[in-house]
Amino acid sequence: MKIYLDNAATTKMSKTAIDAMLPYMDTIYGNPSSLHSAGQAAAEALAKARKQIAGCIGASPEEITFTSGGSEADNQAIISAARIGQKKGKRHIISTAFEHHAVLYTLDRLEKEGFEITLLDVHDNGIILPEQVSSAIREDTCLVTVMYANNEIGTIQPIEAIGNICRAKNVPFHTDAVQAAGHLHIHVKKQNIDMLSLSAHKFHGPKGIGVLYAKKGIPLTSLIEGGAQERRNRAGTENIPAIMGMSAALSEACTRMDENAVSLCALRDKLIAGLSQIPHSILNGDAAKRLPGNVNFCFEGIEGESLLLLLDDKGICASSGSACTSGSLDPSHVLLAIGRVHDVAHGSLRLTLSEETTEEEITYTIEAVKTVVEYLRSISPVWRDLISGKRNFIIK
Ligand SMILES: *Cc1c(COP(=O)(O)O)cnc(C)c1O
Repeated sequence: MKIYLDNAATTKMSKTAIDAMLPYMDTIYGNPSSLHSAGQAAAEALAKARKQIAGCIGASPEEITFTSGGSEADNQAIISAARIGQKKGKRHIISTAFEHHAVLYTLDRLEKEGFEITLLDVHDNGIILPEQVSSAIREDTCLVTVMYANNEIGTIQPIEAIGNICRAKNVPFHTDAVQAAGHLHIHVKKQNIDMLSLSAHKFHGPKGIGVLYAKKGIPLTSLIEGGAQERRNRAGTENIPAIMGMSAALSEACTRMDENAVSLCALRDKLIAGLSQIPHSILNGDAAKRLPGNVNFCFEGIEGESLLLLLDDKGICASSGSACTSGSLDPSHVLLAIGRVHDVAHGSLRLTLSEETTEEEITYTIEAVKTVVEYLRSISPVWRDLISGKRNFIIK
């Protein structure tokens, strides 16, 4: 049995997306900047994809810039807003403590340049309140950037309300919608979103391609010098096959969004109910205001990394919030932001479902996690201290 439950990290490409790409790697290989017919065929495809993607998010085609993915889109959105602000003497940016590192590290860089960054506290349910944004906005605020849905704990932020506040106070609003796209409705006009980031590989499209939407009138700062592609917003020959795959994947996901959500939520809630039976476990993030496919738990007395490895042995691909790959022992900044203490945050497990996940897989996963958690606790010195009363349980 091979069960892939790490769809927040990346997804399998859909057949529709692959089929949409193939002709552009084979017969229609022109450079859209070329004036001859081969180039023009590619240019037409590019225009069609731009229009289709714009349609999926309530934008106009001229407001779409193709990037290499979500990270680049986040970087470019924030840098662009900072440069616009700088010119007007505005150097204050508002964000949250649990953004993706593509946002947080870009803000760190701007802070070193002299910008002032306010990171809003996240409530223990993983959601920020619009009033927090409203009271943080100052005369010199040049950007508010708040993610649509969190990539670790799946919590959904009140994006439209934040958009309304920013619009009323005339402050540009960016949202990292990488996890939301394909799962939650996006309409940049209705939600008063000025800039938005997308990444294809999170919704069954190819890797290495994304979108930065920027409302008409917002000048973007190009991060790459070179040709005049993307209305001079992003130099470099467009990745036509990937753009075609992304366009097909996004419209497929958006067409099926509501029916997919119903079945995903049912499986998600079954998994949450199953894992909640494990003693001294806790769900991270609000139970209802979360992405249809996101489950994230902490289990006291164990290490997330060991849990992952043993689940992998049982054929389950999962994720833990801890940044063990970077060699640091720091637990997830997201779990710390919602108030989990270090010891508890280390015992985290993220399972993210896709439309292909079956009920049988969920049943198997519940049993596997129960078995592995029980085994790891049986060999854990920390657990021994907890049950002997030497240490107090944090998760009741
Ligand atoms: C995956 C992800 C990104 C980065 O996207 P890439 O295309 O992999 O660069 C940014 N933000 C969030 C919320 C993500 O989940």
